[in-house]
Amino acid sequence: MGRYRGSVCRLCRRENLKMFLKGDRCYSDKCSFERKAYPPGDHSRVPRKVSDYGIQLREKQKVKRMYGLMEKQFRGYFKRAERQKGITGENLLMLLERRLDNTIFRLGFARSRNEARQVVKHSHFLVNGKKVNIPSYIIKPADVIELKEKSRKINGILESLNTVSRRGVPNWLELDKDQFKGRILSFPTREDLTFPIEEKLIVELYSK
Ligand code: SF4
Repeated sequence: MGRYRGSVCRLCRRENLKMFLKGDRCYSDKCSFERKAYPPGDHSRVPRKVSDYGIQLREKQKVKRMYGLMEKQFRGYFKRAERQKGITGENLLMLLERRLDNTIFRLGFARSRNEARQVVKHSHFLVNGKKVNIPSYIIKPADVIELKEKSRKINGILESLNTVSRRGVPNWLELDKDQFKGRILSFPTREDLTFPIEEKLIVELYSK
């Protein structure tokens, strides 16, 4: 599966939102969004009228980029969300939240989703005692995520755990820092997502 390999700070500036894609740097005065709070590009500061389609597209791009997904993957989640009972937009966000890489990021084992994807791929985690190295693996309530014993000295993971209070762990998760374990207490809910997202715009875009 292809991946975006350009500057992630550019993505924050494009979406006009601090998306915390780069770990520690996002909390420092080196954050590009803080220093250059305007979209990238030569003519970016020229005011332009944005169509409804343009607004919907930007919302979709924002969420897709926050979770580090490519279009095909993102659309796949949308189709899956449509097949589920309930509100499609919320279903979509909850599916994205339940990805293993996102859950590891939310628990504080990684400083960004990108870093979380790497540590999952490198097989550093067990889910319910079994090795899982698929970042898109969908977790469910009562699952237990555990850092493998031989991976408990990895600097990046330790540093991330040491700064977990800066972000906090959401209510649907429980972190046992001493045991390097996380537990899924319940399904995430829409209220757990505090980022400004208007998911109905994504539904409108894909429903055209
Ligand atoms: Fe976004 Fe973080 Fe870069 Fe700031 S440092 S622009 S929050 S990715």
